[in-house]
Amino acid sequence: MPPFLFRCPTTAMLVQDHSGPDEQGEDGKKVYRAINCLACGGLHLVNPLTGKLMSEEAEDTPRW
Ligand SMILES: [Zn+2]
Repeated sequence: MPPFLFRCPTTAMLVQDHSGPDEQGEDGKKVYRAINCLACGGLHLVNPLTGKLMSEEAEDTPRW
């Protein structure tokens, strides 16, 4: 799979990751990957399809 970028929430730096084979979610489910962040050394849950963090996408979800 091509490399993807995500923004580290700790350092606000763009981090490139290209780990592992392509993983498709089943039936359009969101798949998050635990990325060892090169910027801050921590782990982030990132959606490789969108490059967004799980916390970011959770904020996009409307709550009624
Ligand atoms: Zn980070």
